[in-house]
Amino acid sequence: MNLINTEFTLLIVDDEKQNRLLLTELFGTTYKIIQAKNGVQALEKARQHRPDLILLDVLMPEMDGMGVLRELKRDDATRLIPVIFITALDSATDEANGLNLGAVDYISKPFHPPIVRVRVHNQLQLVHQRRLLEQLASLDGLTGIPNRRQFDATLLKEWHRCQRNQQPLSLIVADVDFFKKYNDALGHAAGDRVLQEVAATLRQAARRPGDLVARYGGEEFVLLLPETDATSAQALAEGLQQLLHSKAFAHPNSSLGPWLTMSMGGNTIVPSTTALDPEFFALADAALYRAKHQGRNQVRWAN
Ligand code: GH3
Ligand code: MG
Ligand code: MG
Repeated sequence: MNLINTEFTLLIVDDEKQNRLLLTELFGTTYKIIQAKNGVQALEKARQHRPDLILLDVLMPEMDGMGVLRELKRDDATRLIPVIFITALDSATDEANGLNLGAVDYISKPFHPPIVRVRVHNQLQLVHQRRLLEQLASLDGLTGIPNRRQFDATLLKEWHRCQRNQQPLSLIVADVDFFKKYNDALGHAAGDRVLQEVAATLRQAARRPGDLVARYGGEEFVLLLPETDATSAQALAEGLQQLLHSKAFAHPNSSLGPWLTMSMGGNTIVPSTTALDPEFFALADAALYRAKHQGRNQVRWAN
């Protein structure tokens, strides 16, 4: 499981140089700092750098902080970035306005550096925890690889991308042979361990940056291979089988031999419709079904 990056980037927005320097001094040794001196620049830099937190001055010429926050909330790329207002406006009404617009905190000037430091730290802790939760929710608990939820989301994304670029998209559905008998022979705990090994083996076989290996459920895995044609994907599936054989995980109860094996079904398409076609997965699954029925431990391809 790769842990999320905890190095945070802060965007400091203030029209007065003195204030930007003060805040940069306060946070420069702890976080990566980006500065903006007006609203337009703030929006540009927020979109470009995707900071983890924005410290936003309210009173600025042209576009003020409230306007900037409104724009940030309108854009999918920036709407989840937390914003703390730092402002000379200190009435309860101003504070309520800021918070109602969606700021996570509101700090009045002149500010006390130790308090600002703690408040910023607290917000970044929340950012960190939210990311951790998002990541855990998309990973399979046993194997640490992406789960079905993440696979579904990625399939949709890659379908669209390959449709736009008119590139082939390949999918392999891989299922452990006679896994129930494996559990019966060696116990459920050993079954769990070998599933972890299988996941690691799949990851080893599909290692291009865009490739996705996920646990679809139980002893069934999926490999999504963008910009990969049928010939290359079939070669990858055959290579995966060889890799698995070379690892020789003992399966004392398989009628196919002494080792653990997998059956695979694949499909390749250059998407022509914008909407994801459910047949894409169904045909790979049907090919897997044929591989099972024609003797297991083999790869079958749609058509
Ligand atoms: P086939 O070759 O036709 O795929 O047979 P199979 O036994 O692999 O398939 P079947 O669907 O009959 O059984 C799947 C087994 O996988 C049953 C279930 O107990 C086991 N299984 C599913 N998830 C886990 C898991 O997380 N850990 C362990 N140890 N076993 C699991
Ligand atoms: Mg100002
Ligand atoms: Mg199975």
